[in-house]
Amino acid sequence: NLILAFESSCDETSVSVVENGSKILSNIVATQIKSHQRFGGVVPEVASRHHIEQITDCIDLAMSKAGVGYSDLNAVAVTYGPGLVGALLIGVTAAKTVAYAHHLPLIPVNHMAGHIYAARYVKPIEFPSLALLVSGGHTELVYLAAPGKFEIIGETRDDAAGEAYDKIGRVLGINYPAGKEVDRLAHLGKDTFNFPRAMDDSESFDFSFSGLKSAFINTVHHADQIGETLNREDLAASFQAAVVDVLADKTVRALDAYPQVKQLILAGGVAANQGLRERLTAELQAFDSVEFVKAPLKLCGDNAAMIGAEAYVEYQQQHFGKLDLNADPSLEFDFMA
Ligand code: ATP
Ligand code: MG
Ligand code: FE
Repeated sequence: NLILAFESSCDETSVSVVENGSKILSNIVATQIKSHQRFGGVVPEVASRHHIEQITDCIDLAMSKAGVGYSDLNAVAVTYGPGLVGALLIGVTAAKTVAYAHHLPLIPVNHMAGHIYAARYVKPIEFPSLALLVSGGHTELVYLAAPGKFEIIGETRDDAAGEAYDKIGRVLGINYPAGKEVDRLAHLGKDTFNFPRAMDDSESFDFSFSGLKSAFINTVHHADQIGETLNREDLAASFQAAVVDVLADKTVRALDAYPQVKQLILAGGVAANQGLRERLTAELQAFDSVEFVKAPLKLCGDNAAMIGAEAYVEYQQQHFGKLDLNADPSLEFDFMA
């Protein structure tokens, strides 16, 4: 089975050819980060224009690098939400065009389900499993009862973890997206600021990061006003310790509450965080029957290979879309139930 997959939900234009949902034949990722950096975040209109410029080249490269022809393909898959509507529409339109021209079935894929399926490139997903999904726009604990069945058991009530990283990074003078650099600085410093761990002792699996973000920004601004310079490494380490504590504590509590879970999957852009990977590896020592499956570092950020992996599950269940498929910027998981 060969699937040509598209991803254009945010600031990466990506096209991939995936075999049997588990082998990447090609995964072309054209990032637009440089164009958005001077604005400190993704500008939707700029993103759409870049997707239009890049998509055809990405398709050609993905096909030639995979060494396959259109007649070899079994289906075309595409992210249709959640994300920026104008950005999503470029991928959706390109995918529909290829599907129509080559008489191939079209598979609509949820971007967040795609993030989880990046872990499929490490090993097959077993059910039930639990995913900690941490990205630029989402922070969720997702229960996977069966293939294609995703249930959110906890999520952020305000900012996503990645969003918080990007916003506090900006205060430290770090370019968007700041997560990777804050992570690097954090490893050079110590947790001296004792920032708040919101909702850490609540029973709920929900998260909140806006209080932490505000506490961080207020600390830096206050120091600025009195002419004091704070240690950047310690600031980064303190912020990261607060984020990782809450993510790890909630995940451990969820594993206690769902003892039947066979795997813990870590996915999404923030899953690349070294502090988080180390901490969860240590916590998982206490769970003999739970396997820790981390999405490969290169597939944590947005890419079409993860979309192709999830699409294979949908293909097996014959979940095909029609040519009137539209982008859904606020798509949620329950569409698959
Ligand atoms: P979503 O998937 O929720 O729609 P998105 O696609 O914009 O949002 P991703 O591409 O999954 O988000 O992830 C990007 C985010 O990951 C950015 O906020 C970035 O700062 C963060 N990030 C990347 N590497 C790291 C890291 N090592 N530590 C922390 N955060 C990181
Ligand atoms: Mg991105
Ligand atoms: Fe994403």
